[in-house]
Amino acid sequence: MKPEYVLPELRLDAFNCPNCHVYCRQHWFYLCGAEQFDGYGAQFHDERFMVSDCERCHFPTIWLGASMIYPMHTGAEPPNPDLPRDIVADYDEARSILGQSPRGAAALLRLAIQKLCTHLGQSGENINEDIKALVAGGLPPTVQQALDSVRVIGNEAVHPGTIDLRDDRATANMLFRLVNFIATKMLSEPKEIANIYGSLPKDKLDAIVKRDAKK
Ligand SMILES: [Zn+2]
Repeated sequence: MKPEYVLPELRLDAFNCPNCHVYCRQHWFYLCGAEQFDGYGAQFHDERFMVSDCERCHFPTIWLGASMIYPMHTGAEPPNPDLPRDIVADYDEARSILGQSPRGAAALLRLAIQKLCTHLGQSGENINEDIKALVAGGLPPTVQQALDSVRVIGNEAVHPGTIDLRDDRATANMLFRLVNFIATKMLSEPKEIANIYGSLPKDKLDAIVKRDAKK
C-alpha cells in the first residue's frame, strides 16, 4: 500500500489538507469572534471551538471539541482519476458522509468495490471471488488480506450496499484506500506502461518485436 494519507485530527501538527490534499503543517487557533468586521466591538470567545490553518493553502478546518465540523467532506483522499465516473460518484458521496455516518460511507465504498470488480471484467456477484480472480491476474495478494481485515470477504461477509453495524471510521478509511489502490494497480499503472511503450521510437519497437520473435 502507498504511504498513509493522514486524516485531520484535533491539534495534529500535520495532516493531508482537505483542500489542497498535501501533507503539511497545520497551525492551530482558538476560534474568536468580533462584533465588527475589523475586529473591534464586543468579543465572542468559546474555547470549545478551534481552527486549523494549512501552511500551504491557508484553508481552515473548524472543530467543535474533537469533531471536525468544517469542511463536511472530512478530508478522505480524493478518488483515483482513472476510476469510471459512476464509481467516483459513490466514492465522493462516501467522502461527504464519512463524518456523520462512517457505516453509510463503508456501505457505499463496498458498492464501489463491487462496481470496480465488474469494470475489471469480474461478475460483481461475490466480492470475495472477484478479488481472488483479480489477485490471480496480478493484483497484489495484500489487497485480499486487507479486505479480509475489514471483513468485506470471508464468513462474515455482508452484501455490497448493506450496512454492517460494526463498521467504523477506520474501516471506512481503509476502504477509501483500497478503492484507490485497486484502481492504481489495475487501471493507472497499466495505462502508464502503455504510454511509455507507445512513446518508444519505431526502430526500438521493431527491435523488440524481432527479439521476441526469436524466442
Ligand atoms: Zn492546504
